[in-house]
Amino acid sequence: MANPLRRIHCHGGRPCRRLASRGGPINSTFSHRASSSPLRAAEPSSPRWSSHSSVPGPQSVAAPQIGRSSTSPLALLGIGLGLLAGAVAGWAFSTSDRKQGSAKPQYATIAQMEQAITEVQRALGEDSVSTDSEILLAHGYSEWSTVNIDRLPVAVVFPSSTEEVSTVAKICHKYNIPIIPFSGGSSVEGNFSAPVGGFSVDFMNMNQIVKFRPEEKSSAGYNLNSLFVGSEGTLGLVTEATLKLAPAPTSTGVAVISFPTIKSAASMAVDVVRKGIVVGAIEILDDVQMKVINKIGATGRTWREEPTLFIKFTGDQDVVDHNIKLVQKVAREHGSPKMEFENDAEKQKVLWSARKEALWSMLALRTSGSEVWTTDVAVPLSRVAELIECSKKDLDNLNLFGSIIGHVGDGNFHETILFDGAKERQRVEQSVHRMVRRALDMEGTCTGEHGVGLGKIDSLQDELGDAPLSVMRAIKTSLDPKWLMNPGKIFHFQQ
Ligand SMILES: Cc1cc2nc3c(=O)[nH]c(=O)nc-3n(C[C@H](O)[C@H](O)[C@H](O)COP(=O)(O)OP(=O)(O)OC[C@H]3O[C@@H](n4cnc5c(N)ncnc54)[C@H](O)[C@@H]3O)c2cc1C
Repeated sequence: MANPLRRIHCHGGRPCRRLASRGGPINSTFSHRASSSPLRAAEPSSPRWSSHSSVPGPQSVAAPQIGRSSTSPLALLGIGLGLLAGAVAGWAFSTSDRKQGSAKPQYATIAQMEQAITEVQRALGEDSVSTDSEILLAHGYSEWSTVNIDRLPVAVVFPSSTEEVSTVAKICHKYNIPIIPFSGGSSVEGNFSAPVGGFSVDFMNMNQIVKFRPEEKSSAGYNLNSLFVGSEGTLGLVTEATLKLAPAPTSTGVAVISFPTIKSAASMAVDVVRKGIVVGAIEILDDVQMKVINKIGATGRTWREEPTLFIKFTGDQDVVDHNIKLVQKVAREHGSPKMEFENDAEKQKVLWSARKEALWSMLALRTSGSEVWTTDVAVPLSRVAELIECSKKDLDNLNLFGSIIGHVGDGNFHETILFDGAKERQRVEQSVHRMVRRALDMEGTCTGEHGVGLGKIDSLQDELGDAPLSVMRAIKTSLDPKWLMNPGKIFHFQQ
């Protein structure tokens, strides 16, 4: 029998999908809108601009070649510790690169980028690069991102193997071209935007299972896996990942419980976790979110318009049955005797559909000029009910239309605010800033899962202060002395 803890090892190998040929403007600023995208069908509501667009970029820079070295071979650094293993296309940088690592980064000229595109096409094939305007837009803009900037990548590259990623990285290194890794494009804090242009490297072709292998162990040396987790493409390109597999549960169930107040719903969730009741997921949706889901009607049923917990159960049938009874008891203690429960697979999907449709229902409410801001924080479990209640009051006091969703069992919750982009952006920013401040005061973090990207740079500074950020900058500079990897994200360059 197969080892249930075997691991999948994945990387590329599939032939590159045919892409639109080059045709888009090489000097790509944000002056156009897509009607459809072959990669992600998302029409932007309206461009949003941020203060980050003043970073010197390909349009403004005469591109002196910082630290160009005739001996700058590109190294592949394999990381294979713990649950994640990857091969990272990094730079085996020369002494001259290192010395100049603290100089302000300067990037390639348009002519150099054109030349680099030609070289990538020569090495990887004509179809491996696209400058089609819709594809650039899909790789530099996101309608559900809190931040969008007025630049797009100048090209999108679609490598199919670690070797091809390495080739692209070498060419970018030669010409000082920023590299922005891109996978699903679902991040929401401007994580994959291109404030200084450059190449977006899309991993869509690197979707192969490489091999199954038994679990490896290593606890020696620096934990490079952890270094790359949370680096958001600022340190290197991950080309392989090793995942630990768990046995599929033999039985599952979904429960839905409504509450009179958001605080009572959050308190119940915290109690379930504290009592050690095993649940697969525990999610909170507030009354506003439930109303929106009913209004849009994407789930095929009508919900009680009250703060609601959605709980998943997994395990053997007797374990699931036992845990459901325990949760029912806790619900009664928290004043909510009524719990809907399903163990039929299809009916479970219907019950969970409200959770799945939450953001899309908010997006569907937009009218012309309205935008969505969706962001997250996380706090210790003991503070989560209080934080959610305060944040909800803050939204109400500001007369902003926003809903609350949370992976509340992890102390993580999200605000999704629908607002008039022209009139209300500042108020939304202030409200989000206050939410982050409250989370930090409660010994929490400015983001539980969305990452820092562009949108939370200042929040990260508030959370960590100067010293940890200096260490992060030093690590980045030593691995990426030219600051080519996803520049402008997580923290700003400092000399
Ligand atoms: C509706 C919705 C629900 C969401 N729910 C959740 C949730 O429940 N939990 C959660 O954690 N997040 C959630 N998110 C946020 C988002 O989906 C996650 O942040 C997700 O992990 C991003 O993955 P991605 O493949 O789309 O990465 P992308 O958006 O493509 O990239 C994210 C970052 O990783 C970098 N990157 C991408 N590929 C590589 C690579 N190969 N090597 C190095 N760096 C790379 C990029 O440069 C970027 O900085 C949600 C988002 C949406 C829109």
